Amino acid sequence: MIMNHNRERIKEAKRIVVKVGTSTLTHSTGKMNFLIMDKLARVISELSNRGKEVILVSSGAIGVGCGKLNLNKKPVLLGEKQAVAAVGQCELMHMYSKFFSDYNYTVGQILLTQTAVQEQNRKNNILNTFQHLFAYGVIPIVNENDSVSTEEIKSMDSFGDNDTLSAVVTTITGSDLLIILSDIDGFYDCDPRENTSSSLISLVERITPELEAYAGGAGTNRGTGGMKTKINAAKIVTSSGADMVLVNGSDPDIILDVLSGNEIGTLFCKDLL
Ligand code: ADP
Repeated sequence: MIMNHNRERIKEAKRIVVKVGTSTLTHSTGKMNFLIMDKLARVISELSNRGKEVILVSSGAIGVGCGKLNLNKKPVLLGEKQAVAAVGQCELMHMYSKFFSDYNYTVGQILLTQTAVQEQNRKNNILNTFQHLFAYGVIPIVNENDSVSTEEIKSMDSFGDNDTLSAVVTTITGSDLLIILSDIDGFYDCDPRENTSSSLISLVERITPELEAYAGGAGTNRGTGGMKTKINAAKIVTSSGADMVLVNGSDPDIILDVLSGNEIGTLFCKDLL
């Protein structure tokens, strides 16, 4: 019963952040998955038509940059990666812009850094930008500014992964729900890649140390944070009064199922303030 009640609430979410990671957006060849990008654009446009305000947090700049520059392997040096990200981010937005325009929507790009979200003043400005984008009927697409954030100073300057970025965006924008599209069906009591008898946890009402201990690292070399950063994102989101759902993003139509209140993936319930 409690489960139904919590899932019921998801149907009412008005402002929603959707986070998609590189492992969902790219094939194992490193090339972009156009079918997924197109479907994402279609589903998000449909939700906007229904009156929802959706923010897309998308990775993929380095993957797209490698394709655009015909590099057959990912750059290693920081300066190279940042240069490739600079090229890839333009191309990524160009592609989203094309896909969304098929459904009659315009996109706006917001690139954030950790320092940009630390002061209240700057947070207010960012919120203001989102409010105006929604007023114009534009779909905001957010990424970390990979060309100026550096891995070396990760703790000071970089979110390190878009799980954390998407959680921060959820709180700043006062969103009701964060949907994280991953390469796995939800949060399990142990990494399913390591233990085939692990079971899916469909509802998390409180993030306990025991639960945190279930979380392992990234599953593929295209994933970034694994479940550790997702639990961290869930803590940020639920303590700010929003819900988070973690689902498999291999078919973006799953977003519609989540918003129908279906019991899929893992729901991390907001703290009742
Ligand atoms: P993505 O970018 O698609 O979210 P990640 O590799 O960052 O991909 O995170 C998903 C991976 O986390 C899974 O493929 C899985 O191998 C790993 N993982 C570690 N611990 C768990 C757990 N307790 N439940 C589910 N997946 C887990």
